[in-house]
Amino acid sequence: MKPTKFDYYAPSSLEEAFGLLEKYGDDAKILAGGQSLMPLMNMRLATPKVLVDINRIPGLDYIREENGQVAIGAMTRHRTVETSALLGASCPLLPAVAKDVAHVQVRNRGTFGGSVTHGDPAAEFPAVLATLGGTIVCTGPGAVREVFSDEFYLGMLTTCLEPDEIVTEVKLPNLVGRKWAHRSIMRTHGDFAIAGIMAALSLDPGGQCRDVHVGMYGVGPLPVRSAEAEAIIEGRQITDELLQEAARAAADEAQPESDLRGTEAYRRKLIRVLLPLCLREAVNQSN
Ligand SMILES: Cc1cc2nc3c(=O)[nH]c(=O)nc-3n(C[C@H](O)[C@H](O)[C@H](O)COP(=O)(O)OP(=O)(O)OC[C@H]3O[C@@H](n4cnc5c(N)ncnc54)[C@H](O)[C@@H]3O)c2cc1C
Repeated sequence: MKPTKFDYYAPSSLEEAFGLLEKYGDDAKILAGGQSLMPLMNMRLATPKVLVDINRIPGLDYIREENGQVAIGAMTRHRTVETSALLGASCPLLPAVAKDVAHVQVRNRGTFGGSVTHGDPAAEFPAVLATLGGTIVCTGPGAVREVFSDEFYLGMLTTCLEPDEIVTEVKLPNLVGRKWAHRSIMRTHGDFAIAGIMAALSLDPGGQCRDVHVGMYGVGPLPVRSAEAEAIIEGRQITDELLQEAARAAADEAQPESDLRGTEAYRRKLIRVLLPLCLREAVNQSN
């Protein structure tokens, strides 16, 4: 299929883009890497009358450290995230999961801000945001809002972004001195995860887990932290029994649905298998 007819604009500044979004309202869609939007348009699941291509707006492609956080410009490509030495040193979970995002051709075009805004429940970058907690910078005409990731996502592929706002930056806490890991299962490399687990934690001198974050993705309308698994692990030393208990709790807490990639029961089973593997890998990390 081909997309329905649309008009195309390529503004060269945010102000120009805001003017177009204001003028065309709900008829307009922002085009970033196009790796989610164009397939949806080709299948006519999205039928915008106007595309506002933000690729020519300067100053939206960067990765930097600010006050103990990493700040990533919305137009930073997945491939840049994957290969960033700065992220490798300060938030290595991001380059590690970037390798699992589609194929290199998609990663060359797809943008960090596009993935975060699209918010696919099985996507890696929104899952990192859910696991670590991050801030999405939503810029509109004359105002900038910083929205915590918990409040940004309202439901399946739905965010609190206003029609005249553009995501310009995403901030994440750094992982310096922390342990982390991720595990996921997909049908083939490059496909979305059927289910995945991410974890970040510290070990105190007695070997007890502190500040435990456990994220799950592909198993509900949104990537989420497992409050139950975290409460079970927090302050305790990792043992096989503890991990089994946490895995059962996370699998019960998940809200998976059946689809072509896997049944609800299979996804819960994956959580029970992946969580212990992921947490073991995290605590055994040498840093
Ligand atoms: C074959 C294939 C396999 C894939 N596999 C995976 C995978 O395994 N894991 C994964 O996570 N992703 C996967 N993807 C999706 C890919 O990561 C996309 O790049 C990403 O979901 C969207 O980013 P984009 O820059 O391409 O956004 P676009 O497709 O341009 O836009 C997506 C949506 O976000 C909006 N938007 C984009 N940027 C902004 C912004 N700055 N401000 C406001 N709104 C904005 C658009 O209006 C649109 O609604 C796959 C894609 C393909 C084609």
